[in-house]
Amino acid sequence: MDDSLYKKLLDEMYDGVYFVDRQRRIMYWNRGAERISGYSADEVIGRFCGDNLLRHVDACGRRLCTGMCPLAAAMHDGQPRQAEVILHHKQGHRVPVLVRVTPIRDAQGAIIGALEVFSDNSRQKAAQEEIERLRALALLDPLTGIGNRRFIESNTHSRLEELRRYGWTFGVILIDIDHFKAVNDRFGHLVGDDVLKMVARTLAHNIRAFDVVGRWGGEEFVVIAQNVSIATLESLAERLRVFIEQSSLPVADKVVHVTVSLGATLARRTDTPASILGRADQMLYVSKQRGRNRVSVEEDTSVLI
Ligand code: GH3
Ligand code: MG
Ligand code: MG
Repeated sequence: MDDSLYKKLLDEMYDGVYFVDRQRRIMYWNRGAERISGYSADEVIGRFCGDNLLRHVDACGRRLCTGMCPLAAAMHDGQPRQAEVILHHKQGHRVPVLVRVTPIRDAQGAIIGALEVFSDNSRQKAAQEEIERLRALALLDPLTGIGNRRFIESNTHSRLEELRRYGWTFGVILIDIDHFKAVNDRFGHLVGDDVLKMVARTLAHNIRAFDVVGRWGGEEFVVIAQNVSIATLESLAERLRVFIEQSSLPVADKVVHVTVSLGATLARRTDTPASILGRADQMLYVSKQRGRNRVSVEEDTSVLI
C-alpha cells in the first residue's frame, strides 16, 4: 500500500490521530483530530506541541505541553502509555480526551517519533461522574450501575413540577423483560444478573443525552424522556425494544437473548409519580397480552395539559 492510502485510512478513523517527530513537531493530523480539537491540519502541521498549542492539562489542571507530556515520556523511555487529559479546543473550551501514545521506531529500532490517538472522553466522563453522584446520594442501583427506584421517583417528581410550571412535556416508558424467570431457571441466577446488567447498559447507551434511565425493581426498568410527542415517545420505545432484542450475552457454548415488553405514556398536569407509572404499567400489561416483545403507548391525549 502506498502512503496516501494509509493516510486516507487514518483520515477515516473517528478518533483523533497525530504523529510527532523527535522534536515533537506535528507531522500528521487526521480529520478526527480536526473534529475533536477544532484545529485544521493546516493550522498545526509543522508546529511543535511544546509550543503549547493544545495546552493539554491533566485532571488537576497541571500543564503538560511545556513539560513531560505523554508523547515526550513515551519517546524518552520507549514505553506506550495512556492518560486522561483535557485539551484546549480552538473555540476556547476544554474537552476531556483519552490519549494513547506509542513511540515509533525506524528499521534499526531507533525512536523517530511518536503516535498519539485520542478520543473524545466527555460522554464517558459524564457517565462516570453521574454514577459517582448517584452513589453518593444513595440513588444508584448497585447491580446494574444505573439509577434506582428512588432516583426515578424523584426525577418524575421534578419533571412534573416543570410540566406544571413551564409546560415542559415528558413521557415515561416502563420496560419489563419477557419470561425472565425462565432465564434464571435455565441458566442460573448469576447469568440472570448479567442479563439485567446487559439490558441496563443497552438502555443507558441508547437513550438521548437528556433522558434518564433507572431500575424500577426486579427485571423492570424506567426511561423518562423529555420534550416528547406521543410519536417520538413511541419511536424511542421501539428503538430500545429493537436494541435489546439485538443484544446477546455469551454463556459457555450458548448465547442468551431476551426481549422486553414496553408500556409508555405522556405525563399530564394532574399526574402524580404514582399515576404516571400506573398508566405505563397498564400499557405494559397490554404489550404482554398482545404477545410480548412489543411497545404499547397510551393514545388518549385529550386530557393533555
Ligand atoms: P413476564 O414475561 O410475564 O414478565 O414473565 P417473567 O418471568 O419475566 O415475570 P415474573 O414476574 O414471573 O418473574 C420475574 C423474575 O425476575 C422472578 C425473579 O426471580 C427474577 N428477578 C427479580 N430480581 C432479580 C435479580 O436481581 N436477579 C435475578 N437473577 N433475577 C431476578
Ligand atoms: Mg416484572
Ligand atoms: Mg418480566
